[in-house]
Amino acid sequence: MTAKLIKGTEIREDILEEVKAEVAQIKEKHGVVPGLVTILVGENPASISYVTLKIKTANRLGFKEIQDTQSEDISEADLLALVDKYNKDEAINGILVQLPLPKHIDEKKVLNAIDPDKDVDGFHPVNVGRLMIGGKEVKFPPCTPAGIQEMIVRTGVETSGAECVVVGRSNIVGKPIANMMLQKGDGANATVTVVHTRTKDLEAHCKRADILVVAAGVPGLVKPQWIKPGACVIDVGVNRVGEKISEKTGKKIAILKGDVDFDEAKEIAGSITPVPGGVGPMTVTMLMVNTLKSLKFKLGLM
Ligand code: NAD
Repeated sequence: MTAKLIKGTEIREDILEEVKAEVAQIKEKHGVVPGLVTILVGENPASISYVTLKIKTANRLGFKEIQDTQSEDISEADLLALVDKYNKDEAINGILVQLPLPKHIDEKKVLNAIDPDKDVDGFHPVNVGRLMIGGKEVKFPPCTPAGIQEMIVRTGVETSGAECVVVGRSNIVGKPIANMMLQKGDGANATVTVVHTRTKDLEAHCKRADILVVAAGVPGLVKPQWIKPGACVIDVGVNRVGEKISEKTGKKIAILKGDVDFDEAKEIAGSITPVPGGVGPMTVTMLMVNTLKSLKFKLGLM
């Protein structure tokens, strides 16, 4: 059997088109568009490339986008004051501080200074708490887990009563996706098991999974024979395992591999995400969804 490919690149396009249409409607009815500010401190090349992608996507959707670049030596107090300025700015619905920050700045302090109602990344303790409570309390699910759930739902995988096994317990992927899948509601209602480095028999747990979400950061950790035939496999892992010359650009690019042995796994699973092109494109997409949601909350549309 060859699994259905869950292509993040295609699902991204569908979602972005939906967001774009909704932005246009809101603009016509209410005369406002979602406002997103990305605060970038310093010139870390990886951060610049992430921020550039976010700006490009926001612009494509008709958002008001502010890129606020600050020098590497900005003081913590000045950065906190900047966050406060955007907290009070009525035209801004989402505030994003690109990590990592320089060593002299306490990242946690800065992230916790963002107004939880503008925390579209969903990492503020208030939003973590809201996610835990579930239901209508949830405002901004963190973007990667939100993307994972969206992929499962849009693939038509039954989640209610499903055995969902999550490999990894990080705050940005494992814990939140486990929490989201066990909630009462559509696209959830699963029976969730979280496995990690201290789990005794990883294989036995994976073999039970109707939905297997792997976010360990260990290439090929999940063996094909651990996959239940017909299961939905979401491989979140992005591991650089070498370099190659791009056929398109002639430049050196990283060879990326997931946490699951894709070639063999796809012959057993019912549906599976590739790496790259699976979960990866969903994170920025869901950031846009959260920013639109933030405006909708403000306008009383949600
Ligand atoms: P992390 O290192 O913070 O957490 C990894 C988790 O996996 C830990 O909880 C650990 O207990 C578990 N783990 C590690 N080795 C294990 C093993 N041998 N057996 C069982 N459990 C094990 O990582 P993270 O931030 O959650 O990211 C995980 C992977 O997902 C990474 O490859 C990362 O690059 C990728 N990722 C991708 C996206 C995206 O595509 N948008 C976003 C976030 C993370």
